[in-house]
Formats: sequence, C-alpha cells, structure tokens
Amino acid sequence: MRVSIVGAGLGGLCLAQGLRGAGIEAEVYERDPAITARFQGYRLVLNPGGFEALRGCLPQRWHPLLDAIVGDAYGERLILDPQLNQVGALGPGRTGIVVDRHVLRHLLLTGLPVHTGAALTGYDLLADGQVEARFADRDPVTADLLVGADGVGSAVRSVLSPQTTPTDTGVRFVIGRTPLTDRFAGLSRAFGSKIAGDGVSLLLGAMRFRTPPKEAAEALAPEVTLPDIRDYVRWAMILPPNGSLGTATPQEAVLSRMPGWHPDLRALIEQADPDNSTLLSIRVVEPGERWAPGPVTLLGDAIHATSPTRGNGANTALRDADLLRRCLTGGRDLLSAVGDYERQMFEYGAEAVRFSLEALPAIASQTEPA
Ligand SMILES: Cc1cc2nc3c(=O)[nH]c(=O)nc-3n(C[C@H](O)[C@H](O)[C@H](O)COP(=O)(O)OP(=O)(O)OC[C@H]3O[C@@H](n4cnc5c(N)ncnc54)[C@H](O)[C@@H]3O)c2cc1C
Repeated sequence: MRVSIVGAGLGGLCLAQGLRGAGIEAEVYERDPAITARFQGYRLVLNPGGFEALRGCLPQRWHPLLDAIVGDAYGERLILDPQLNQVGALGPGRTGIVVDRHVLRHLLLTGLPVHTGAALTGYDLLADGQVEARFADRDPVTADLLVGADGVGSAVRSVLSPQTTPTDTGVRFVIGRTPLTDRFAGLSRAFGSKIAGDGVSLLLGAMRFRTPPKEAAEALAPEVTLPDIRDYVRWAMILPPNGSLGTATPQEAVLSRMPGWHPDLRALIEQADPDNSTLLSIRVVEPGERWAPGPVTLLGDAIHATSPTRGNGANTALRDADLLRRCLTGGRDLLSAVGDYERQMFEYGAEAVRFSLEALPAIASQTEPA
C-alpha cells in the first residue's frame, strides 16, 4: 500500500512515522518551501492520550529521547492584575506533558521522505480505485490513500467536503517566547495564569526541558538532530476582537498595550526572540456530515480545528494519526479501515471542537468569568 500525506504538521508526520514503522510506504508533501520557513516554536501541553498516541507511532528506540525532551505541566490558573496581584481564579491548571512544537517536529521528521515546496492544488479519483494528487510546482503523484493533514485551510478538505469550512472566532493574539532567565523564573506564579489588563489579557507558560533537546539527542539517539533550544517562557496576548498590529512589530504592539504594567512583565516582552513572535487568529473547523469512505481522508486541524484554549488540537491530531495507523495495519481492506477510522474520528473530533470553544469566552474576555 502506498500512502501520500499532505502536510508536515504534527498529525501528518506522526502518521508517516507510524505507517513507515509498520512497513507501509508513506511520503509527506508540504507546501512550505522549508521546514523552518515560519514560526512554529510554541509549547504544547499533551494529555496522556495524546502522548501515548505519539509514542505508539514512534520507533521504540526513540522513547527515551522523547521522555528526555519534554517538560511537566502543573499549576493553578489564577487571574492576576498587571501588577501581579491575584484578582480571581480560572480553576485547576492542565496537567500533562509539555513539548516544544518545533523540537517535536524535528524528531518526527527524522528519516522521513518529506517533499517541501509541494502545495497540493487538488486530486482526481482514478478508475482503478487509486487517487492522483496534483501540486502547484511538481508532478502529480498516485497513491492508494491520500491523507489531508494540511491544517485549518485544508486544500484536500475543500475537494472532499467543500461544505465544511473554517469559522473565524474573531479572536486575535500575539504569541512569542523569551529565554527563561532567573529574573523571569520569579514570575512562576503567573505561569498558566491570565493577567487581565485594560482590554487585553496576557497568558504565560513555561517550557522547561528535562534535558536540553540537542544534548539529549546526541546522548540518546545520535541519528536524530534536534534544535539547540533552551528553556523559555511562552507568552500570548489576547487582543480586543479583530485586533490588528498596524505597522508595529508584534513586540511593539504588545508593549503599547502594557503601559504601567509590572516591570518584569514588560521586560519579558522586551527581551523576546523577535523571530519567534507573531500574530495569530483563532479559526475553528467543525466536522459536519460524513462522506462515503474512499481513497481520500482527513486528519487533525483539516477536519476538526479547535481553539487553543483547551489545548486539545495537537492531542486530537496525534490521536487521529495513531488510530488511522492502527486501522490501516489491522489486516482489513482499505475502505473498511478508512470507514472505521472516520466513524470514530468524527465523533471525538466534534467533541474536541465543542470542548475547546466552551473555554474561549473565559480566556478571551477581559473580565473575570462567571
Ligand atoms: C498558540 C497555540 C497553542 C496551542 N497549544 C496546544 C496545546 O497546548 N495542546 C494541543 O493539543 N494543541 C495545541 N494547539 C493546537 C495544535 O498546534 C494544532 O491543533 C496542531 O498543530 C494541528 O496539527 P495538524 O498536523 O493537524 O495541522 P498543522 O500543524 O496546521 O499542519 C498542517 C501542515 O500542512 C501544510 N499545508 C497546508 N496547506 C497545504 C497544501 N495545500 N499542500 C501541502 N501542505 C499544506 C502546512 O504548511 C502545515 O505544515 C495550539 C495551537 C496554537 C496556535
């Protein structure tokens, strides 16, 4: 069986690792001109299910490395004012495993055939049951199964399920990261919490690697090359609805909304890594009606894009990858394997989107939630 996977995000790469580990031919086609072409360096919290799905798709010899390059999530989610005084609480924080998305992608990319600069433009179903994928700047490829793991704006979805379209929640945020120095370690009470200012809120989270990723790879799996990244604080400022940056850089835009804030908070933004600060918007995709199982399917944000507020998008994409891997290697014919995957994925995917949207008002509003 030959599988073509569109999109080198966490879901597509995880599936490719899992399939190749099971002896299935799988290649990845990515639109970006290079793997590091744009900001992808924020931290993610994986729940036990997402982490197990990831492990299930990775070769066992990398499990010790994976365990070494993650961190631990814990803590209470408080609501603080801009001087760091507590004014409320958001309830218990997320527990789980914290990973850096950029580092995890590098691990997942190891040994995979990934074709960059390959933007899918459409596909055709062939008379023999196979599928031919078309790209903007390269020759078509034929496969037994085409998997659209191409994110919230999925080109595969626009052919397979054109009625399923993203919804813009109107929530905009600037995200960035700053090295975790001794000074910023003193902000630990604010990690996981929301700092509510005038019309904006700032969310902080720490990425503390159990072992620096590059050193861990050199010691535990020399065939893997991981980026030289140290501990950092991820910050995200939620802007007023439909906010934009104008001509300001992301850091300038954030600082202009923090007059008189605690000096450590201002310094955190001032000392951020400019290459890793950017404006993002929250768009969601809710899985609607199912299509009849065929040689094309979807996974991850392409079919169920969540709001990051509950931190379940990557977890669900990894769950999809592991489930599809298990369905395809279960000895059944292709269409019943794909149908079984889609039946389960639609159910938990829709639930993941609903769950994430429930939490959006509490994070996006500048007042204490009811
Ligand atoms: C700030 C932030 C924090 C988050 N925190 C968490 C968290 O704590 N926990 C959690 O579980 N989730 C979290 N998420 C969500 C998570 O990052 C996503 O749900 C997850 O990365 C989706 O993976 P994916 O593989 O489905 O899609 P993506 O990662 O979006 O990958 C899609 C890939 O497809 C490529 N592509 C697009 N179009 C084409 C095309 N036409 N042809 C070829 N390639 C194409 C893209 O370039 C991209 O590389 C967070 C998201 C954000 C933005």
